[in-house]
Amino acid sequence: MIHVVIVGASLAGTRAVQGLRALGHTGPVTLVGAEAELPYDRPPLSKSLLTSDWSAAAVDGVRLITAAELDQLAVTVRLGVAAVALDTAARLVRLADGTEVAYDVLVIATGAAARPSPWNPGSGVYQLRTLDDARAIAARLARREPVVVVGGGFIGTEIAAAAAGQGCPVVVVDPLPEPMARLVGPEIAGSLAGLHLRNGVRTRFGAGVVGIEGEAGALTVSLDTGERLAASTAVVGIGSVPAVEWLAGSGLKLDNGVVTDRFLRAVGADDVYAVGDVARWPHSGRGVEVRAEHWTNAGDQARYVAAAIVTGTPDPYESSDYVWSDQYDWKVNAVGWRDPEGSTVVIGSLDDLGKVAVVHTDATGAPCGVVTVNWVRALNQARRRLMAGESGATIAEALRQLL
Ligand SMILES: Cc1cc2nc3c(=O)[nH]c(=O)nc-3n(C[C@H](O)[C@H](O)[C@H](O)COP(=O)(O)OP(=O)(O)OC[C@H]3O[C@@H](n4cnc5c(N)ncnc54)[C@H](O)[C@@H]3O)c2cc1C
Repeated sequence: MIHVVIVGASLAGTRAVQGLRALGHTGPVTLVGAEAELPYDRPPLSKSLLTSDWSAAAVDGVRLITAAELDQLAVTVRLGVAAVALDTAARLVRLADGTEVAYDVLVIATGAAARPSPWNPGSGVYQLRTLDDARAIAARLARREPVVVVGGGFIGTEIAAAAAGQGCPVVVVDPLPEPMARLVGPEIAGSLAGLHLRNGVRTRFGAGVVGIEGEAGALTVSLDTGERLAASTAVVGIGSVPAVEWLAGSGLKLDNGVVTDRFLRAVGADDVYAVGDVARWPHSGRGVEVRAEHWTNAGDQARYVAAAIVTGTPDPYESSDYVWSDQYDWKVNAVGWRDPEGSTVVIGSLDDLGKVAVVHTDATGAPCGVVTVNWVRALNQARRRLMAGESGATIAEALRQLL
């Protein structure tokens, strides 16, 4: 009986457990998680939960699985204890409480942590990755005092929207000229900046933070433009770093994540897989190694590896490359990727029609991605057509027909 040990009890870890049992794995399964919490979903942490009442029902609503469901799946659950080392020769995972767990197959699903803030005054600076982080930030937002959000990526801008919704005066600061530009491209990023302004959020794009001083309730955020912003709370959302420290010395190849082959098998050891935000794999479409930090990818990779363990090696992992973000009442969706050397076709208009799709082609002229705002139908259609290998012009025309 193969014992599968999964380290990391969040989205990818939970989906791996569920996938193994759904596909008929009857051997022992152990799920190890550093957080003492039952697995929960992270997207609501920067959206609905941030402005919720934090009732038991609201928190239960973000759980990925219940204790009873884990029981039914006959999983040995070790929550609140981090893995601290991996011995691939002896096939042992060492835990923070001094115990060891032997495995036949190991699935690494330790995700990522918020990139630490370089600015750490005594208090008042927050980061968002965990349920506890969200609870602490929500309590600050409830005070309706000025908030500076450092980082105009999708998490930073969602926090800004939540803070504005709570009635806080908000400023978003980012050295890039526009919000979420890496994800959505300049055609949409400009409109997003306008959306934030219309909702009362002030922005300092193109400006970097050089220091945060003071304490909660009386912070000063200094910018490289010389401007000084007063804030009660600062939230620093400047990306994330893969959680791989515990794998130092394990012999696994670590380079901005756990490096895997096309089958998500970790390079450097047998019978070890990596899935979700921690995994860096050779992306078949893009021809480069990619570490995705997206919900859909984490679940897809976990299910893929569960199938690989139960039924043997299938085809290489193919990513759906799908991501979404909610900004106020706008729904931003992206599938595929953007090639800065490529070109774009814009269909629709946010100003006139309230919805838009941007079809991206790469440097060779092949379609590589589509970003939509408030137009899920176009996104779904484009996704199918991208998978069918249709040309950029055909996809753009099909989306025009939808208008
Ligand atoms: C605030 C927020 C909002 C988001 N919104 C969106 C969104 O709108 N759309 C989207 O596509 N994606 C979104 N994401 C990204 C998405 O949530 C992640 O891609 C997803 O959570 C990745 O799942 P994971 O299981 O790979 O990693 P994680 O969710 O990071 O979980 C990893 C788990 O492993 C644990 N762990 C780490 N080290 C150890 C160790 N040594 N031993 C044991 N356990 C360990 C961690 O404590 C954690 O519980 C958001 C993320 C955040 C933080």
